[in-house]
Amino acid sequence: MKIRVAHLYPDYLNIYADRGNMAVLSQRAAWRGIELEYRPVGVAEAIQVGEDDLVYVGGGQDREQALIAPDLAARAPELEAAVEGGAAVLAVCGGYQLLGHFYRDRSGAELPGAGVFDLHTVAGERRMIGDVLLECEIEPGERRTLAGFENHAGRTILGPVAEPLGRVVSGFGNDGESGFEGCRRGRAIGTYLHGPLLPRNPWLADWLLAQAVAHRSGDVPDLEPLPDELEAQAHTVAAGRAHTRGGRFG
Ligand code: GLN
Repeated sequence: MKIRVAHLYPDYLNIYADRGNMAVLSQRAAWRGIELEYRPVGVAEAIQVGEDDLVYVGGGQDREQALIAPDLAARAPELEAAVEGGAAVLAVCGGYQLLGHFYRDRSGAELPGAGVFDLHTVAGERRMIGDVLLECEIEPGERRTLAGFENHAGRTILGPVAEPLGRVVSGFGNDGESGFEGCRRGRAIGTYLHGPLLPRNPWLADWLLAQAVAHRSGDVPDLEPLPDELEAQAHTVAAGRAHTRGGRFG
């Protein structure tokens, strides 16, 4: 089995080691005998809609977001077709913001989004910084937790058809008020959680891998469990930090 992963703007959107999410997906795929074909996609390079099983976009400061936002927004039709076609998506922080309708930065400049998620983001005066713990139910009846780190000025407001990724147990989340974090649309996920996210949340890495395989093969595979003791310890430490030092304005 081979899956194709498109990593958008890795030279621009990659803060807090978000690149590590790709390393985790690649290794966890290899441990199951799944070949992951990694393709960096820069400005003006094509996403092969229907060919890419997972699209990934990381986080970035306002400056880097402004450099790629027009290019990303111009990909709206391709990205919409990819999501409608069942490709998996993981978008982190700045990349998450730019998959909404727009991001209005601290200067008041409005960066266009790709409109994959029904949301918009407006930067506030103080940054939302700290460890975060979420409770998610990404499959009916399967309540899981996600632990990570957030650092964003953006306050993300979900629109009427948007579904949050999870409920905030500790930390700010989308806007520090709604009690929700991230956004989920089918196999597409947007989140503020850095860390990088996937090493300390192996269940989500495997969920994304399974969705990518399903896009390629038609069936969601039952991936064999891995010995995730280290990952579980990392999750426990991150969750503990969220309880003791989550959510402070910077
Ligand atoms: N520049 C955006 C903000 O400040 C996103 C930051 C990030 O990707 N960590 O909200």
